[in-house]
Amino acid sequence: MKQFILTKNKSYSFSSCETCNANCCNGSMGTLYSQIILEDFENFENFPILFTFGNLDFAKPVILLTNGEKFCRHLKDMKCSIYENRPQICKNYPLSPNIDEQTYIDVTCPSVHENSNDENSFVKEKEMEDYFKNYKDLYINTYFEFEKFKKEDYTKILTIRNIDFFAYLKEDDNKYIKMHQNSLTHLEDEYFNNLK
Ligand code: SF4
Ligand code: SF4
Repeated sequence: MKQFILTKNKSYSFSSCETCNANCCNGSMGTLYSQIILEDFENFENFPILFTFGNLDFAKPVILLTNGEKFCRHLKDMKCSIYENRPQICKNYPLSPNIDEQTYIDVTCPSVHENSNDENSFVKEKEMEDYFKNYKDLYINTYFEFEKFKKEDYTKILTIRNIDFFAYLKEDDNKYIKMHQNSLTHLEDEYFNNLK
């Protein structure tokens, strides 16, 4: 299972994926879904976009990467078959931005090594990218986009590892809701179908 920790005041190097069995694409090793922001809706069309609800009952859009049991269905011959169009979460990994404006790293990735030499760190380079630099604002914009949609108007369509995933099935002109609804066709694939 993944273990994201704060990178602050530490530096890390990243070696290579060559000797790894694509752990980060494997549902049985903890990869299931990732919260997304509005920009992520635009950038991929290969996965279902669903919603989860936190303790405060506001909708969080997520991308369902695996069925929680198998490898991502875009992994072919242990390589990502949609590498150029893989979701931003996959581009960011093993790093992850956060609303607290800090960067986190998954220390279970076997290619992550903590250094004493700051010059070797790949974390700062990633933090310069717009996605990381502006993540807090992007996250808040996403929250406001779905603020008007209430939990009772969503339909629970999947439960995996005790996590409930919801769809918004009513008609609406919101372009992100439309993209979400279009993405539900991916749930008809055999890969996800046995979960329904
Ligand atoms: S990023 Fe890490 S977990 Fe993913 S394939 Fe490479 S070495 Fe493995
Ligand atoms: S899209 Fe590619 S990198 Fe991302 S989980 Fe699937 S196979 Fe792995």
